[in-house]
Amino acid sequence: MTPKSFVPLIDPFDRRVRDLRISITDRCNFRCTYCMPEEGLKWLDRAEILSFEEITRLARIFVENFDFDGIRLTGGEPTVRADLPLLVEKLSGLIVPSTDKPVDLAMTTNGSALRLIAKDLKEAGLTRLNISLDSLDPQIFHQMTRRNHLDKVMDGINAAREVGFHHVKLNIVMIRGTNDHEIVDFATFGRENGMQPRFIEFMPLDADGAWTMEKVVPADEIVERINDVYPLEPILHGPEPAQRFAYKDGMGEVGVIPSVTKPFCGNCDRVRLTAEGKFMTCLFAIDDFDLRKTLRSGGSDRDLIRQIQAAVGTKWAGHSIGNVNFIRPPRSMSQIGG
Ligand code: SAM
Ligand code: SF4
Repeated sequence: MTPKSFVPLIDPFDRRVRDLRISITDRCNFRCTYCMPEEGLKWLDRAEILSFEEITRLARIFVENFDFDGIRLTGGEPTVRADLPLLVEKLSGLIVPSTDKPVDLAMTTNGSALRLIAKDLKEAGLTRLNISLDSLDPQIFHQMTRRNHLDKVMDGINAAREVGFHHVKLNIVMIRGTNDHEIVDFATFGRENGMQPRFIEFMPLDADGAWTMEKVVPADEIVERINDVYPLEPILHGPEPAQRFAYKDGMGEVGVIPSVTKPFCGNCDRVRLTAEGKFMTCLFAIDDFDLRKTLRSGGSDRDLIRQIQAAVGTKWAGHSIGNVNFIRPPRSMSQIGG
């Protein structure tokens, strides 16, 4: 069979862009301190948010015209969006031209609704799940998420595994002095339960603006602390941001995401779509590109393709957190889509 034609999307630094993060809502039922304020964040109006049809049309362009092979749904909290399995069903049918296989469709969630919808998501074609879990201690979990829902999240993790999400990854934002004493506990938890913890360095994208370099726990330190108890060896990896390590005794893997101390921008193959249809070429980008305007003013696929290509032509080499020239982006994490 002749492969379908597509145009690879290449940025000015010769990086092939082929991974799309779609935020499907700015709303959330949690208020994690490193992401949202306790109250006062102004939600987008319903009409401002892209409809499932609009999201699917854009996703189809990325997959079919630019050969994107990965899509991740995020937010805000994606599970608060009504009828989510319907969207998953629409997106999971997209076929990557170069492989003639369905796109890899993943989701990042706080896990609190999975007992209710994990089965429907699996049946609709969701392939992978990352679940955020910042502490195994109910009090610290409450302190970090401002919600007393550790049991619900644990139950959500179990529900996901019961319906066949076998390789759940646990996203843990590490904050010095808050949950960094749990590093080895998380490694033990992952080993005992067949899940991969992924420790994420705290980035300056919190709405409260409380981020400081002192609160970042460097990925190297995390790896060292685990390696002292459970010896590790590095795994060669592709463009994904996580540095992965395997336990030498074969008991699984652990990942670290050194976004601050060792940015992975040189390998970045990722772009983002916010809930209101702004296209962003970096989590830390200051500029965005209004795809919703083009969609809603009757723009053709050609118009959207040209707008996406022009935007990717502005993708910068990388962010500079920690340097004097770093500018904090105007949106916080839940407004971009992590
Ligand atoms: N609500 C979902 C969740 O929490 O998994 C999806 C959206 S959330 C913004 C996506 C990921 O970004 C989560 O794993 C979260 O822990 C992470 N995150 C949020 N704010 C962050 C920050 N300031 N630094 C690093 N990671 C952050
Ligand atoms: Fe909500 Fe996720 Fe942000 Fe926490 S990290 S407040 S769960 S969007």
